[in-house]
Amino acid sequence: MPDEASFPKPSLASPPELTVVIPVFNEEANAPLIAGRLTAVLQGCVASHELLFIDDGSRDGTLAVIRDLAQKDGRIRCLSFSRNFGKDVALAAGLDHARGDAVVMIDADLQHPPESIPALVAKWREGFDMVYGQRTDRTADGKLYSRFARRFYEVFQRFGEVPLPEGAGDFRLISRRVVEQLRRMPERARFSKGLYAWVGFRQTGVPYEVAPRAHGETKWNYAKLFRFAFDGLTSFSTVPLRLATYTGVAISVLAFLYAFVTILRTLVFGADVPGFPSIIVSVMFFSGIQLIFLGIIGEYIGRIFAEVKERPLYIVAEELGGGPLPAAAPGTKTGAPRVRSSAKRS
Ligand code: UDP
Ligand code: MG
Repeated sequence: MPDEASFPKPSLASPPELTVVIPVFNEEANAPLIAGRLTAVLQGCVASHELLFIDDGSRDGTLAVIRDLAQKDGRIRCLSFSRNFGKDVALAAGLDHARGDAVVMIDADLQHPPESIPALVAKWREGFDMVYGQRTDRTADGKLYSRFARRFYEVFQRFGEVPLPEGAGDFRLISRRVVEQLRRMPERARFSKGLYAWVGFRQTGVPYEVAPRAHGETKWNYAKLFRFAFDGLTSFSTVPLRLATYTGVAISVLAFLYAFVTILRTLVFGADVPGFPSIIVSVMFFSGIQLIFLGIIGEYIGRIFAEVKERPLYIVAEELGGGPLPAAAPGTKTGAPRVRSSAKRS
């Protein structure tokens, strides 16, 4: 193995059985906790493992804390982004750089219990390619959030390209061959849950209970959530675009009927001039509808614009632990083989 010399600890000389990807954004208090709990659990359930932190542009001491952890344990690696790119992009980077035969993705805030990982691994060993954690209840989220989430799933189920399993989030195990398929999806508007469902393969769920956040605050707010739901829907459905056509046809039919009625009325009762308010109302109504659909079309065009620019999905500023960066430019997700050993070393 030509790469051996570049790995600090012998435990990293060969690919581990399991890689755990942990996206972190301002999680200095949680990082050591999750590392500790993961290590304790993993030692009992897999032959070898690595923890791959993706520091998503944290502005607190997260990176320093992880650097400390990585120095003490050669199985801990970290990629640090040049700025905040968002959790879904962090997870994509995790898949790009994971080396295990299977990859588990888990939140850093201990809301996903590491103690459920053995159950995920057991299903994987039974032959499943994707094992998602399925939350048993949403009470930890609050009423409004759960209602919003349920609504979203209903809409997605009706109009989305692929059905999403209920209550399945990012906490999941993915086998190597599915990781390779996911890496071939370079889209910028990343709706991970949709992508996981889209790839297919044998999938199953393992129930788990969501714990409250250990430290710090969630990075979500309702505006972000709405954006996320909208992105998810527009990435996996063109129904909103078709809606414009249907509405247009319906309104045209109505207008035609109205014109017919007006002609008849004029012939029977003669012309009458009044009707100014109804003109204003209808002009405003129809221009409103047109603007809404222009907006929807604009959303799709914006999406196309983002894709054609072909910017890298993320930029890695620093890598801790493990070997050198892979030969492929980081963030260009073209499905290139993960040849780490060909990376330049001076
Ligand atoms: N996270 C991230 N980048 C972001 C926001 C969040 O990497 O821009 C990470 C965060 O550190 C945590 C996980 O994603 O490990 C889940 O975040 P959070 O707890 O805020 O989301 P929630 O659990 O409320 O859905
Ligand atoms: Mg959380």
